[in-house]
Amino acid sequence: MRGLILFDIDGTLLQAGDKDHQLAFVAAMKQVYGLPATLDGVPLAGMLDSQIARLALSRQGLSDDDINADLAKMIDAMGVHYAEAIADQSRIERRLPGVVEIAERLRDARFALGVLTGNAREVARVKLGSAGILDYFPVGAFGDSARERHHLVQAAWDEAAVQFGQTFSAAQTVLIGDTPRDIAAAHDNQAKVVAVATGRYSVADLSAHHPEAVFPDLRDTAVVAQAIERMVG
Ligand SMILES: [Mg+2]
Repeated sequence: MRGLILFDIDGTLLQAGDKDHQLAFVAAMKQVYGLPATLDGVPLAGMLDSQIARLALSRQGLSDDDINADLAKMIDAMGVHYAEAIADQSRIERRLPGVVEIAERLRDARFALGVLTGNAREVARVKLGSAGILDYFPVGAFGDSARERHHLVQAAWDEAAVQFGQTFSAAQTVLIGDTPRDIAAAHDNQAKVVAVATGRYSVADLSAHHPEAVFPDLRDTAVVAQAIERMVG
């Protein structure tokens, strides 16, 4: 394979602001910690689910030790609540423009594809499945397996080595994401990044963080693919 392309989910592949995900979060925190923790005022864009949980629960006065003791259980409960809420719903309408086209084009051009997301693994699986795009992304690095987003790049490399029987260098790796946190996660690992303004950040906001390329969305498939091909040489 020529390179590894890692897509963020919320605001990049799918519309951001998934209310069912937020409700599952709140229900799981209540179930496992017995607290009425909310996500009100917690920054969500570009954050890992584990980071969001730590912030919301620490605001309820829980210590790090108390949070850590049940965090895995809470993340599991969130996955169950989310899967129940979505059940067999089709949520294809949540796909952002150009997503299927760019995934097919890159796959046909012999790029390995994956997701690198703050979503917990089960939430990501259900979310992508309900939007009909799970099968495009055999590699995944998820927000329940790290404390910081930039650690997820190594997790993706490890999983890509298993899935594709090939190790990918930083120079062969491109992240695609909608927040400054995606840009930082790529650059902290010497990888490249394509920023897309389909989340809460504008092209100008994202440009200030110096991604290798920035687009309003993924609609112009040929131009986006050419930019990626140039980045990996
Ligand atoms: Mg995002």
